[in-house]
Amino acid sequence: MTKPLAIHWFRQDLRLSDNPSLLAASKAGNVLPIYILDDDNAGEYKMGGASRWWLHHSLNALNKSLKGNLRVYRGDAQAILCKLVEQNPNCSLSWNRCYEPWRIARDKSIKQALEQAGVEAQSYNGSLLWEPWQVLKKDGTPYKVFTPYYRRGCLSATAPREPLAKPRIRYAEGDFQALTIDELHLLPTVAWDVQLNGHWKIGEAPAQARLRQFIDEGLADYKEGRNYPAKKNVSQLSPHLHWGEISPNQVWYDVQRSGSGVNEDCLLSELGWREFSYALLYHFPNLPEKNLQKKFDAFPWRNNKKKLARWQQGMTGYPIVDAGMRELWQTGYMHNRVRMIVGSFLVKNLLLHWHHGKNWFWDCLVDADLASNSASWQWIGGCGADAAPYFRVFNPISQGEKFDHSGAYTRHFVPELSALPDKYLYRPWEAPEAVLDAAGIELGVTYPLPVVDVKLSREQALEAFKAIKVNPT
Ligand SMILES: Cc1cc2nc3c(=O)[nH]c(=O)nc-3n(C[C@H](O)[C@H](O)[C@H](O)COP(=O)(O)OP(=O)(O)OC[C@H]3O[C@@H](n4cnc5c(N)ncnc54)[C@H](O)[C@@H]3O)c2cc1C
Repeated sequence: MTKPLAIHWFRQDLRLSDNPSLLAASKAGNVLPIYILDDDNAGEYKMGGASRWWLHHSLNALNKSLKGNLRVYRGDAQAILCKLVEQNPNCSLSWNRCYEPWRIARDKSIKQALEQAGVEAQSYNGSLLWEPWQVLKKDGTPYKVFTPYYRRGCLSATAPREPLAKPRIRYAEGDFQALTIDELHLLPTVAWDVQLNGHWKIGEAPAQARLRQFIDEGLADYKEGRNYPAKKNVSQLSPHLHWGEISPNQVWYDVQRSGSGVNEDCLLSELGWREFSYALLYHFPNLPEKNLQKKFDAFPWRNNKKKLARWQQGMTGYPIVDAGMRELWQTGYMHNRVRMIVGSFLVKNLLLHWHHGKNWFWDCLVDADLASNSASWQWIGGCGADAAPYFRVFNPISQGEKFDHSGAYTRHFVPELSALPDKYLYRPWEAPEAVLDAAGIELGVTYPLPVVDVKLSREQALEAFKAIKVNPT
């Protein structure tokens, strides 16, 4: 007797191992693995360019792992699923949950439509260590501060589930009227992705290899080394985690079993920040748009397209900021320390709205994630949950001197300053003419003069914060 058809809908879980929905489908019948590019419902949260580039390669890698059996579609997910179900009566359908507000609303509607068609859709947790609705304060309200969320809420709750085995899959046969991955047109028409191509290895196997390499080479000094962008102590797992090429459960348990003490705890708590961001997005679905602290609604943001463009292009005249923005453009990634520096610079020195930063990151990051990006930008702006206090303005000069004191990171991404002595690297405008000449630098020509005075702009920011009556805590 032929087994029933079990559709597994891949979304942010582009892997075979530790995939609860795929495992369930493989037990239920002959598996039809599908992916749907649903730009129609994403609205303003349609994927950015770097995300689309990653997705193209990740789908190809996944299809290879699935022995060419992945079927891809483009359009309204509900219409596509209802048609598939109609053409394949008695099938089952499952997926791993997503937590973006638009996806929650869409999935609810799909479940109802499928129920009416007599098909029960099953959903599983394949992306988070703890479900957002399970980690609540004693009074049933969501946590707004990270430390109690993580320590009291997560660590004292049931431990995350152990990773699941890779399923043995029997594939469904037939013509399911799918597109090819190329027909999704995810790659850019102008070839800005050349540099990204050389930087990443995409897919489940490279994600596993990245984790192994990080545990072997980076984790031992993670707690300290993670602050220095030139060091190789961070995992660079964020895009793999975002796309679900590896599960947080596997990272959690593999790191825990490595026995790396404080470094292990530190890495696990960073995974905790990822969970916290998702919990915030779930409980405060306006997180990507609205200040969590309402008093920030009156903040006198400036509007200056020229300054915004200089920030985006890495031409602010502050070398560590420019290095970060160029890293983002060239690799689709930016080191966390530098994300904080460039974020603070945009919001607190240029006084430009955090939305501009969030939107630029959304388009350029290969790990662009609605939860982590929105929560982090609110944190930078001082308007979010457990946010950086408004008076904490990162000084781009001292941050560069402290966290990239050899200049290796900055010189790599801002090569026009490479011959400048360390003493002036983060303040080229203070270098004597002879030093600039010897380094081949003409300020304002080969490298820009500062877009703002950091001291003055800091004072202006503090005044603006005072005006909305945000008091130091
Ligand atoms: C302004 C700003 C925007 C950001 N936007 C994003 C985003 O769109 N997507 C994204 O994944 N992260 C974002 N982050 C968080 C953080 O910078 C990245 O997760 C981290 O730099 C990824 O590098 P890694 O994998 O080497 O991190 P590691 O230090 O190796 O950490 C391991 C994992 O923990 C998680 N993690 C670490 N730090 C954070 C954090 N602060 N918040 C949430 N999760 C964290 C990530 O999944 C990361 O892969 C943002 C941070 C800032 C300040």
